[in-house]
Amino acid sequence: MDKQSSLSTPAVSAFGTTASASIPPHPRQKKDADYVFFELTRSICPECRRVIDAHILLRHNKVYMRKLCPEHGLFEGLVYGDAQAYTSAARFNKPGTIPLAYTTDIQQGCPHDCGLCPEHQQHACLGIIEVNSACNMECPLCFANAGAGFNLTLEEVEGILDHLVETEGNPEVVQFSGVNPPFIPTLSR
Ligand code: SF4
Ligand SMILES: [Zn+2]
Repeated sequence: MDKQSSLSTPAVSAFGTTASASIPPHPRQKKDADYVFFELTRSICPECRRVIDAHILLRHNKVYMRKLCPEHGLFEGLVYGDAQAYTSAARFNKPGTIPLAYTTDIQQGCPHDCGLCPEHQQHACLGIIEVNSACNMECPLCFANAGAGFNLTLEEVEGILDHLVETEGNPEVVQFSGVNPPFIPTLSR
């Protein structure tokens, strides 16, 4: 078919009437996205830490977070490996248990007011005290981002425990976190 005869071919419009219009050789086709949009949440930019919207997406039974920083662009990462388990976990939601005390004010919003601030919806189920961040194991993958860093004194650890008791009353669990025990003088006392 030459170009001229293609342009003059009558076509049926979306409303069922006959119209004289051109038929593109390859009509545009709408396509489905390769994910299901599940929910909107808030997150932070991993580069500048500003708070931004984040989309939770389901794709191939996995859960991803996608977020756009106006300065640093688009980020997407896997957040859960089983979308079915993730979406069905909401049935376990319960009212939060409010802490006995807060120690920061609401000024910039979550997470910049962390302390706990009065917007927090749940008490501390598990207190984790990172005693030491120094390590020389040089593991190629380190979730603690360990390296040259701090080492809390015994007095500082006691102060943190006092603070936990102030906000929790009777904490059920406290976990001491640190790296490479020979390098943690506080824990060895
Ligand atoms: S205490 Fe909770 S609500 Fe407040 S800033 Fe920290 S994470 Fe957000
Ligand atoms: Zn950013």
